[in-house]
Amino acid sequence: MDIQSFGRKLAHAVPASAPMLKAAHRSGARLRGGLNQIWPDLVRARTEKITIAITAHCNLRCTGCRYGRDFMPGSQLPYALVAGVLEDAAKANIPAVRLYGGEPLLHPELPRMIETASRLGIGAYVTSNGLVLDRKIDALHAAGLRKVTIGYYGQGDAYDRYVQRPGRHARLVESLDAVRAAYGPDRLDLQFNFLLSRQTATIEDFEHVRRFAERYDARVQIDIVHYSLPYFQDGPELDLQFRPEDEERVTRLVEHLVKVKARQPHILTESPASLASIGDWALRQEKMRIACDAGKLLWIGADGSVKLCYVAFDLGNLHDTRLSQMLYTPAHHEAARNAFQLNCPNCHCERGARVEKHGPSFRRYAEAARTLATQP
Ligand code: SF4
Ligand code: SF4
Repeated sequence: MDIQSFGRKLAHAVPASAPMLKAAHRSGARLRGGLNQIWPDLVRARTEKITIAITAHCNLRCTGCRYGRDFMPGSQLPYALVAGVLEDAAKANIPAVRLYGGEPLLHPELPRMIETASRLGIGAYVTSNGLVLDRKIDALHAAGLRKVTIGYYGQGDAYDRYVQRPGRHARLVESLDAVRAAYGPDRLDLQFNFLLSRQTATIEDFEHVRRFAERYDARVQIDIVHYSLPYFQDGPELDLQFRPEDEERVTRLVEHLVKVKARQPHILTESPASLASIGDWALRQEKMRIACDAGKLLWIGADGSVKLCYVAFDLGNLHDTRLSQMLYTPAHHEAARNAFQLNCPNCHCERGARVEKHGPSFRRYAEAARTLATQP
């Protein structure tokens, strides 16, 4: 095993309570990032996580999403195809997969996929809207599932308006109450992915999700509204997207997030430096030219298409070619190099890791976070 593979395995194995080891890993990654800036030809694909959209079906109709409507309509990956991916991933020492959709809990073979990943030693987690988690969790937990991340789009009526289905926030609460009653935080890790858009970028909205996370002993990840995902849509009148006039309230929110991180370090998933960069990612969008390490990702769509990342660099289709024949080919390494050099639409995916691994950005935002945290 080479030193980089060892470092990656260590970082995945080490719990969040080992900050020194994680910091050492990030310093090593920054050093490698610096070398890659000088010699980009050195960049290679090294897959650490595969994100698989196992189904395009969904039981919600979120304003910012095309799944369940006109994005890959009706597509769903059969178990055998996903099992082949997991087998190839295990052989290639890829440590993690994320199963999502669409709504992955609607796929009848999800427990079997989790069971296969567990048997092969791959850490699998699920990203869901959580609405039917209470009905599925027993089978999933028995199969080995230990982490679920859940999209959070506001509280009460705001949630129902965003998902375009009345009564769904109440159903989410009912589902999560039942899940937590049966599976405490020592048995199931829950995380809310809070969609930060022009509609939700207020301290009040964030405080709703922070309290929601406290109620369920969960963490919060901030997901900035996208502008280049193929399955994203901007909403009527582009009213999800940030505009220049939003700068002041986004700045106030970022200051609040950094202070919350200082008070409750475990409730927010990302580092203070990453939080301090949120305003720039939201407002400057593709002008944020920070090298992308999507060479560590792979994305698989519900129609079997394989890309380097959520947005770009087609590598093939699982209906024609096994994953093992797409991994670490010249085309795969070239895609990783192009991602690093941002020969792509330059989205904000992996923004936290990108800030952490880019020395000048890390120093700038870490300093900004220190200043914000100590402001009265
Ligand atoms: S964002 Fe998720 S829950 Fe909402 S419609 Fe899209 S796939 Fe469904
Ligand atoms: S910045 Fe480019 S390579 Fe990176 S995830 Fe976005 S589109 Fe893909």
